[in-house]
Amino acid sequence: MEPILINKEELEQSRLKDVNAEKDLKFVSAPAILSSVPPWSLAHEIGLKVGDKILEINGHKLRDIFDFEFHFKQSEELEIIIARDKEEIVIELEKDAEDELGAEFVTPLFNGVQECANDCPFCFVENQPLDKTRESLQYRDDDFRMSYLHGSYVTLTNLSYSDRRRIEALRPGPLYVSVHATDLEVRNKMLGRKKSISIIEELKWLAGLEIPVHTQIVLCPEMNDGIHLLNTLNDLLALRNKPVVSVAIVPVGLTKYHRRGLRRFTLDETFDVINLVETWESLELKKRKSFAFLSDEFYLMTHTSIPAKTHYGNYPQLEDGVGMTRLFLNEMEKELKRKHKASSNRKHRVSWVNGTISKNIVEEVAKKIKDQFPHIELIPWAIESKFWGTTNVSGLLTGDDIYQGLRYIPKEMLGEKIIIPKVMLKDGYDIFLDDMHISELEEKLGIPCVKAWGAKELLQELLAS
Ligand code: SF4
Repeated sequence: MEPILINKEELEQSRLKDVNAEKDLKFVSAPAILSSVPPWSLAHEIGLKVGDKILEINGHKLRDIFDFEFHFKQSEELEIIIARDKEEIVIELEKDAEDELGAEFVTPLFNGVQECANDCPFCFVENQPLDKTRESLQYRDDDFRMSYLHGSYVTLTNLSYSDRRRIEALRPGPLYVSVHATDLEVRNKMLGRKKSISIIEELKWLAGLEIPVHTQIVLCPEMNDGIHLLNTLNDLLALRNKPVVSVAIVPVGLTKYHRRGLRRFTLDETFDVINLVETWESLELKKRKSFAFLSDEFYLMTHTSIPAKTHYGNYPQLEDGVGMTRLFLNEMEKELKRKHKASSNRKHRVSWVNGTISKNIVEEVAKKIKDQFPHIELIPWAIESKFWGTTNVSGLLTGDDIYQGLRYIPKEMLGEKIIIPKVMLKDGYDIFLDDMHISELEEKLGIPCVKAWGAKELLQELLAS
């Protein structure tokens, strides 16, 4: 089930309370709905069922998994009130301190995801055809709990008094914070706000709580680049490890639907950004190494060599597209060195689709595979996104983009199957961004489509044919 947004009216009321009474807690509670009750679990033993809604534990209403864990562990004698169908049931439970309930919830945030209070001109929502993308892609969420649980970036601009007290109590870390610029005026412009608290002050507050923070800069030409980028890097470096662990620099991504008047970096400007960041790092390498990372797009767009593994350290910003290409290339090199047993030496051809930005890299990989396994012909197809118009990364290709890109290619050229990088599919599902299921693409093209994640799975698929 997709998470819902916190009910705006309730949130507004609780914020008013927050502001007026300072000590009042923002408390928008909601039932904790069970999605799984394994037969071995304590939940099963006490008669809980999938669909049951936990309303209260020892008189405490719940907001999220943090509240649940806290109140469940707080006492060895619990009174749990649940709602089942239209009935309220009280369950008395005696347990040991270390016992777990063992059930799973529909979502860890029972009261929904907190909505964003910004209006960034580069927001992904401002780059979508609102009538053609699924609702979940149009959520503007900005919830510190999601940052902790799923590594999503937050701006900290919507924290209420009670959110802050909660962060102080829970100390959730690491958190992922969108900084964009440390200059207050520039940051406000980036976030589409009139005012906000200085991000340096916010980061110092998190440092005081010993919460590690990964940061992000979405770089926009003539907004936060050049001297602003240098100042931001210097300011963040001054907070290195207290609390800033890393900085990802990502170029603004705009599609043909963009309606806020921004532009993308030109090729020359992209080279300038690489030079600026690499020079900044080299000036004091010992102090600055493995701290600020340009996302892969900068290197791929300019056909500049991807930095070595040592540059990325332990790859702290992989989720933000930083270092994925290096990781893939190294994994492939490692895999190709291992002894592999092909199921046969039958000559065969397989297609592999990617966005145009990775064209050179995937061609190089396909050649290496052919050198090692001459009977396998891996054909890379660099697909343009007609849906988005201007983006060229693999992760944003839709099912229809692939269909349009391959539909006139004769089947014998495409080979026995098409390998789809998993990054194009919704996490845990087999559907593309346009809601096309992988089986629909398969049917339309008349060729099996298989998904693969990383070098190992790609080779496995090729050798299994
Ligand atoms: S913080 Fe900015 S980019 Fe993120 S959801 Fe809000 S408006 Fe969109």
